[in-house]
Amino acid sequence: LVALTGVNKHFGDLHVLKDINLSIGQGEVVVVIGPSGSGKSTLCRAINRLEPIDSGTILLDGQPLPSEGKALARLRADVGMVFQSFNLFAHKTILQNVTLGPCKVRKTDPKVAEKRAMELLERVGVANQASKYPAQLSGGQQQRVAIARALAMDPKVLLFDEPTSALDPEMIQEVLEVMIDLARQNMTMVVVTHEMGFARSAANRVVFMAEGEIVEESDPETFFTNPSSQRAQDFLGKIL
Ligand code: ATP
Ligand code: MG
Repeated sequence: LVALTGVNKHFGDLHVLKDINLSIGQGEVVVVIGPSGSGKSTLCRAINRLEPIDSGTILLDGQPLPSEGKALARLRADVGMVFQSFNLFAHKTILQNVTLGPCKVRKTDPKVAEKRAMELLERVGVANQASKYPAQLSGGQQQRVAIARALAMDPKVLLFDEPTSALDPEMIQEVLEVMIDLARQNMTMVVVTHEMGFARSAANRVVFMAEGEIVEESDPETFFTNPSSQRAQDFLGKIL
């Protein structure tokens, strides 16, 4: 579904993505882990073209990513993204936050969009908050709304960049449960996270990055019990 081949990205002199090759199949859940500054966020941002790349190709459904115009807007709709900071529109209600994208980008009828939004808010457990504003919700609730908002666009793939790292510990689980549920329903997901419990229970594959490279790629069981690279061993030693 998503295929990166020979992808390179520099920020000035800094080589942040080094010859990245990665393919993500339909329904696959890929967890990306690695030290701070290793290029995980840049990788996610490259996949929905928030960040242009210097060389290589990224294909979505066999098509190269468009760089501008309507095609780019459609790509952003197809590749949903959930950030560390929830990025909800502060002056819109929860319901409006979820209906805005479908109405504007997909030209969905407002009534239809609202019905679907309520179903999604129900699914992530915040339907009773629909008429409130983001600031009136807890961090965990806001992040679940952000997930519902991304789902409202019917994305082909969902990218999560440390979705729980800004949350208080008691709210992390409620967000992870929504994500585990999505994984079970075969949503294609790329998840940057340090939540190893999530990686173990929901990932099909773990990708370990360091200094802009994919150092290791394996199933979670192998990665956590028997990582082959020294860098992965050192990293796991620090976080587990
Ligand atoms: P973290 O775990 O801290 O989120 P990360 O793995 O997501 O780290 P990136 O955010 O992808 O890392 O950053 C990779 C490198 O690129 C870092 O050295 C960072 O300082 C640098 N970088 C990221 N964005 C920019 C930018 N817009 N301009 C210049 N340098 C950048
Ligand atoms: Mg990051």
